[in-house]
Amino acid sequence: MEFSSKLLENAVNEMSQLPGIGKRTALRLVLHLLKQPNEQVSFLAESLLKMREEIKFCKSCHNISDVEVCEICRNESRNHAIVCVVEDVRDVMAIENTGQFRGIYHVLGGKISPIDGVGPSQLNITSLVEKVKLGGVEEVIFALSSTMEGDTTNFYIYKQIKETGVATSSIARGISVGDELEYADEVTLGRSIVNRIPFENSFKNN
Ligand SMILES: [Zn+2]
Repeated sequence: MEFSSKLLENAVNEMSQLPGIGKRTALRLVLHLLKQPNEQVSFLAESLLKMREEIKFCKSCHNISDVEVCEICRNESRNHAIVCVVEDVRDVMAIENTGQFRGIYHVLGGKISPIDGVGPSQLNITSLVEKVKLGGVEEVIFALSSTMEGDTTNFYIYKQIKETGVATSSIARGISVGDELEYADEVTLGRSIVNRIPFENSFKNN
């Protein structure tokens, strides 16, 4: 792509770093921004910067939050004995949208994936195991997507907490194998949490 301006080229290059944004789309977005009033572009840039600099991760569940402990963890009316393990904040949002879950979450920040160089130590697994070992947790629900990485991660955690005697369950697979949670419709996802199955059943049949 030949650019008539270095400034334009830089902006397009930065924009095209975003996932799913190729050079052509990046150019279209940048040209769109160029037509906007200055302050509109400032708002965009500032909100991104502010988010990057000030956002926090809940020190209890690692969910993205504006404060030290997120709203869900602070909510006394939720059942803190039931912990739903998810990959990232998008899953928390998807499950919250179903209105079917009143426990709390634990956000791993990814899945174990040797191919991508992601090992257990890069994920928020230790804090989950510690939380369970401290007591007070009655059930851990595995709600990772049903991919090989998801299954590996579930099983890795399961092995670490099995001895505590905590109940473990897996969300029912109305969600087909390989589907990401966030794409499941709310009714299906809600039902799969309500109809969760003991985790042992999810791998003994395989
Ligand atoms: Zn939290």
